[in-house]
Amino acid sequence: MKRVAYITHADCLLHTCDGHPENAGRLSVLDKLIYSSGLIKKVTELEPRAATIEEIELNHDHDYVKSIMRLKPDGLRLLDADTYINRESARAAMLAYGAGLQAVELVTKGEFDRAFCAVRPPGHHALRDRSMGFCLFNNIAGAARYARAHCGLKRVAIVDFDVHHGNGTQDSFYDDATVHFTSMHQWPFYPGSGGAHERGKDDGEGYTLNIPLEAGTNGKAALARLQPVFEKAMDSFRPELILVSAGFDAHRDDPLASLQFEDEDYFEITRMICKIANKHCAGKIVSFLEGGYDLDALARSVCEHLKGLLDE
Ligand SMILES: [Zn+2]
Repeated sequence: MKRVAYITHADCLLHTCDGHPENAGRLSVLDKLIYSSGLIKKVTELEPRAATIEEIELNHDHDYVKSIMRLKPDGLRLLDADTYINRESARAAMLAYGAGLQAVELVTKGEFDRAFCAVRPPGHHALRDRSMGFCLFNNIAGAARYARAHCGLKRVAIVDFDVHHGNGTQDSFYDDATVHFTSMHQWPFYPGSGGAHERGKDDGEGYTLNIPLEAGTNGKAALARLQPVFEKAMDSFRPELILVSAGFDAHRDDPLASLQFEDEDYFEITRMICKIANKHCAGKIVSFLEGGYDLDALARSVCEHLKGLLDE
């Protein structure tokens, strides 16, 4: 059994908005199931540290970070069409971003084989200079930058199986050959990007891979699309660490999208990623909670993902 860190913080629940799909209930329902199922005994639960401003600026513009830190509205304010902020959101976002940095540290030092960051707000839509799609800071992009800047890694791979295209992450590394990005998502769909023709530019040409899926695609068909493409790409890229944007909104019960994944599909997709990590980087994986908006389906699917991470 692999040593898996489960990194989460109660203050990630302070960022919330009743009636919004991305609310604190997502983490509390997940936490309940992880305890009641006994899965908590197989992982090591840790609290993350908050990222510093300098660390957040590894992936975001100074003025944008400052503006998020300064915003302490009474009640709720909308930053864009979908993304809200409240008095505690900056705190939650610093912890969500810090969790990824801590996870990368622990896994690259060999203290854990794998880590799952059960944090929010999610991150993969956030751009360098603005919020988007429920995301304030791009947690996974920050972790990839931190792995290169502070942990001595030269090649980091990101794989994103959230139902939405990870546009913010793609944008961060579009011209960068040191971070390989693979996203599988419903398409055409929010946020609009993620067509198969988007493959990176300049030095990064060929280091972005998009796998668009038609509405109605099930988990087995999706895995059959992802596996050969990702496997071949990793054989030539030879990652030193694999980061996962783990969104669970491709589930058939999810209210926001139209794919047909079942709980167990998340186990199979995770196993596929683990086997590739075993081949290239001693199994090292750091995974991040992104979407997933049917609370029960989300909690069950994350448990399948964790079981997959625990296996060899
Ligand atoms: Zn999503």
